[in-house]
Amino acid sequence: MKYDVIVIGGGAAGLFCAATAGRRGRRVLVLEHNDRVGEKIQISGGGRCNFTNIHAGPDNYISGNPAFCRSALARFSPWDFLALVESHGIAYHEKTLGQQFCNGSSREIIEMLLSECASVGVEIRCGGLVKDVRPGFHLRTSCGELCCDSLVIATGGLSFAKLGASDFGHRIARQFGMKVTALRPGLVPLTLAEPDLRVFGPVSGVSLPVRVRSQRGDFEESLLVTHRGFSGPAILQISSFWNPGDRLAFDLLPGKTIPFRPGCTSAPALLSEFWPRRFADAWCSLHVPQKPLTMWSDRERRQTEDLAHNWPVAFAGTEGYPKAEVTLGGVDTGGLSSKTLESRTQPGLFFIGEVVDVTGWLGGYNFQWAWASAHAAGEVV
Ligand SMILES: Cc1cc2nc3c(=O)[nH]c(=O)nc-3n(C[C@H](O)[C@H](O)[C@H](O)COP(=O)(O)OP(=O)(O)OC[C@H]3O[C@@H](n4cnc5c(N)ncnc54)[C@H](O)[C@@H]3O)c2cc1C
Repeated sequence: MKYDVIVIGGGAAGLFCAATAGRRGRRVLVLEHNDRVGEKIQISGGGRCNFTNIHAGPDNYISGNPAFCRSALARFSPWDFLALVESHGIAYHEKTLGQQFCNGSSREIIEMLLSECASVGVEIRCGGLVKDVRPGFHLRTSCGELCCDSLVIATGGLSFAKLGASDFGHRIARQFGMKVTALRPGLVPLTLAEPDLRVFGPVSGVSLPVRVRSQRGDFEESLLVTHRGFSGPAILQISSFWNPGDRLAFDLLPGKTIPFRPGCTSAPALLSEFWPRRFADAWCSLHVPQKPLTMWSDRERRQTEDLAHNWPVAFAGTEGYPKAEVTLGGVDTGGLSSKTLESRTQPGLFFIGEVVDVTGWLGGYNFQWAWASAHAAGEVV
């Protein structure tokens, strides 16, 4: 069977690229190894798919070459995707910080992509295996031999293997002599070591607003305590900038000061004006003088205030790919055209979406990269 374009991977980037190429009259096949397409879209955004962020720009992405994503993002903006969503009558809302979510369910985005593909005759085959790829391109698959002029790899990253993630794209890149940068989990909960784990593990479930800083990033969002460490948007964001051994600094009272005042005798009671009481109890058990507030010296008050605004925490590690929303690293951008996502060394071979070394922050940025890179390739395949 001969096609103009074969797309391997029926996720966000693969489906959107297929529809874009199909609209140009190309004969397109999507090969997805799961039994159905768009599994990550389905669970994304807590089931409501945070499908874009209206503020998306190159500064919201991490890559060996921070300028690489600029061209594709500029040529297919969040507003372009919103126009598509609106043309399908999908109701959506902004939750916070430019993040756009479906009012209903993520399923609506999958149905939209499938309808876009169907309207231009894109063929989609699920449940098959690509056994090998030879230049030309010739694919040996579980449903026979297939050929195409353009081959698009849209197999995503390594996180959430239970939803079909594989290293297929990285293997193909290496097979064709392209480099793959170091891979690690991103947007992932961090785990605590003792004694912090013993103290904070039992208060899992509480959350509070914080500002968290590393040498490479700075985010003001909420922190969620888990039974293994810390999660929540602030932690997921900073995790992409965290390396083993790094300490993170937390401001647990951003923009506030502790109102030491006569009459208040216990530090946990005072701090529970700002934090959940269980968190205040746990934090104070480790970090404040264990005596009534009335007996604290000025120096002890100052030290507590300083520590609350600059609390250094060392983490044991991350919860790894099973809990990571994304994979940092991927196909080295040095081997790809930033305009078309085509390999510089293997004409006709394209890499789009998360398989490329471009990783967005939390908040709809990763889908926007999937749409924009898919569009850039879909216009030329
Ligand atoms: C729990 C969770 C929630 C998320 N929420 C959001 C969110 O709200 N907003 C946001 O912007 N991002 C979110 N993300 C990140 C986002 O889902 C990904 O960045 C995005 O899906 C990447 O698109 P992609 O098409 O490159 O890869 P994917 O969507 O992962 O698609 C890759 C596809 O390729 C298939 N595949 C893999 N190997 C093969 C193979 N060998 N043969 C055939 N098919 C193969 C996979 O089964 C999959 O269908 C979330 C991720 C997770 C895990």
